[in-house]
Amino acid sequence: MVRPALRSRSKRRVWRRVPGGKVKVFYERNYVYEAYCAVCGRPLGGVPRDIRVIRYGPKTAKRPERPYGGVLCSTCLATAIKLSIRS
Ligand SMILES: [Zn+2]
Repeated sequence: MVRPALRSRSKRRVWRRVPGGKVKVFYERNYVYEAYCAVCGRPLGGVPRDIRVIRYGPKTAKRPERPYGGVLCSTCLATAIKLSIRS
């Protein structure tokens, strides 16, 4: 049996094939990550919650490809664009 700290379900269990050919259980931390809009504070769409994508994934997978993508939500961006044009 694994050590007591790893018996907790707060750790994520991942089965990986090791170089010897066996499949072993790896215990990973559960990451909670969520990006929020800088203006209204709502969770952003199009931004992955998986920290592995944020850290190691391609840049195009990390945020929407538009101005202020990953910073402002679509509603706040529309408002900001309207304000900048009208001013
Ligand atoms: Zn917003």
